[in-house]
Parts: sequence; C-alpha cells; structure tokens
Amino acid sequence: METQIRKINLKSLEYAKQLLLQGELVAFPTETVYGLGADARSDEAVGKIFQVKGRPSDNPLIVHVHKDFEIKNLVKDVSDYAQKLREAFLPGPLTLVYQSRGVVCSKVSCGLDTLAIRVPSHKGAQEFLKYVDIPVAAPSANLSKHVSPVSALHVNNDLDGKIPLILDGGNCSGGIESTVCDVTGPYPQILREGLVSREMIEEVVGFCNVYKPKEGERVRSPGMKYKHYSPACSTKLFESFEVEQAVECFLRLKHDGFRVVVLCEDKIKNNFTEDSVMNLGKTDYEMAANLYELLRRAEKMADVIVAVCPEKQDGIMAGVQNRLKKACAEIK
Ligand code: AMP
Ligand code: MG
Repeated sequence: METQIRKINLKSLEYAKQLLLQGELVAFPTETVYGLGADARSDEAVGKIFQVKGRPSDNPLIVHVHKDFEIKNLVKDVSDYAQKLREAFLPGPLTLVYQSRGVVCSKVSCGLDTLAIRVPSHKGAQEFLKYVDIPVAAPSANLSKHVSPVSALHVNNDLDGKIPLILDGGNCSGGIESTVCDVTGPYPQILREGLVSREMIEEVVGFCNVYKPKEGERVRSPGMKYKHYSPACSTKLFESFEVEQAVECFLRLKHDGFRVVVLCEDKIKNNFTEDSVMNLGKTDYEMAANLYELLRRAEKMADVIVAVCPEKQDGIMAGVQNRLKKACAEIK
C-alpha cells in the first residue's frame, strides 16, 4: 500500500473521512504526539490498529473526539470534579477515563468497563475530528515499543507502506503523550503522567493521586506494564546526581570506539564534548518538546545513547522523567 503524506485542507480531510468510514487507518497530528486513528465503532478498523502497530491486544486505546462532541453518549457518568477538569483543561493534553456505556466497539477498551477519552487542542486535530464527526480510536502512530512520533516524517519512518494516509500538521508542540487520569472514583487518579501535571490538577480539584501499581497487582492502565518509547540503539541511563559516572561511561565508550550521543539538560552539557551532546533544553516545556525528536535523531547516529536525567522531578517533568526512564533504562 502506498502511504500518502498530505497537508490538512478540505481535500485531504474529505479523503481522510472516506478512508475512516471504509475502515482504514489515518494518522493525524495532535499537540502531544501523532495519533493512528480508526473508526472507534468498527471492530475491524480498530483491529487494524493493533495489527499495524504490533500492539499487545490487552493495551486499550484512547478515543479522540472534537470539542463539541457529546461524550455523554459514550460514557455513563461525568462527576462534578471530572466536569471541572474538563472545563479547566479541555481541549488539551488530558485524557480522562470514565465508566463506558459500551457504545464503541469492545476492542477499544480491551474488555475493560471503562473508556478513555481525549479532546486534543491541536488545530489540525480539531479540524480532522470535526470533519469526520465520529469517535476516533487512536494510540500513538509508531510501531509498538518504539519512540512516539512528533512529526509526519517520524510516522512515515515507522508506518510507510502500512497505512494509506498521514495528515501532516507539522511538529507536535507538546512532545510527550497526554496525561491519563481516571475519574471513575471519588477523586482523580493519574494513571500516566504527562503535560497536565498533578499540581495543575490539584489546583482545580484539591486532591489528585498518582497511581503506582503495587507488586503483583493488576495494573489499572494496561499500557503501563509494557516496554515503551525505546530507541533502536543501546542506552545507558544515569540519575541527575550521577554526572561523574555518566562522564566516565561516556569516555570509556568513546575510547572503545563506539559512536556515543549524550542526551542531557542544558546546564550539564559542558561536562561532555560539544559534538556528542544532544541538548534537551533549559525549561520543562522545552525538554518535553525535544525528548522524542532527539531520541529519534540519536538512534540513527549512535551505537549508545548516554542519557542523564534532568534534575527537576515535579510538574510536567514527572512525565518527562517517566518517558526518559522507560526509553533508556536497561531493565524495563
Ligand atoms: P498510547 O498507546 O500511547 O496511545 O497510550 C494509551 C494509554 O492509555 C495506555 O497507557 C493505555 O493503557 C491507557 N488507557 C487507554 N484506555 C484506558 C482505560 N480504559 N483504562 C485505563 N487506561 C487506559
Ligand atoms: Mg504509545
């Protein structure tokens, strides 16, 4: 199958709609990462997502809708605090998990009685979702386990020949996936950290828990148990207080003839030779936006990525730390 990459306009949107309604997949931009969309009402179409990505069949999908979509048709109850979160953060990079009405096909939730819904703020995503006006099931548009795509080119690198259309909306500004937050209980519970931080949620509703699975417990967000976001080359990960060890490791690998890229925040970059450093940046938002772009660039030129975690842990850096650790930790 030939994969077309097309800018978003009336013609490409019409083509995208036709494809979706025929049960085909369409990749589209969002403010976090690119999504791989299918008609959420069709078992066959949703099945193709799992097939094309090589995604484990028990890892549920997020349903994407436009900002005026009536979600009460899809989910049972929207509690007061969930409504407050919707008003504060949507459209935006926050996915909320509700009790499902079971209207979309069962493959979307992989047998769970809940449904994850996201309303992206990206202009092109809104245009696409508004134009098709159906619930669109979409995971990130990468091969399973690989780094999420933040440009149309990244999607094409992973899925060329496997899907008919990539809608090109430029580079994603956010850079890491949405926060996934369960709103089925008495208070919100973050299942995956992201660009809407725990602190931001607490400002709106007072209290928010970040879910950490206990040993042996069945995870609440099945995606959490899988290896994720991994570059194709080897990786070595160091904590922010292990700069000395990172430098040692870097020098040893260079000495042994490996091509090494160092991924680190701006303030420690001078510990390494300039031509080996990929600079994550200075601010939280810069680091989130740069992470996947740099991982994808680094895997093409390096035998080993030496990654040093940024110092800051809170706010959206909790999400950045989580992705960097999943991408680069030796034990996953
Ligand atoms: P991605 O594969 O990048 O699209 O990420 C989707 C994330 O949302 C995964 O971590 C899933 O486990 C999670 N998710 C989707 N639907 C649900 C749900 N109904 N309940 C809990 N987590 C969900
Ligand atoms: Mg993903």
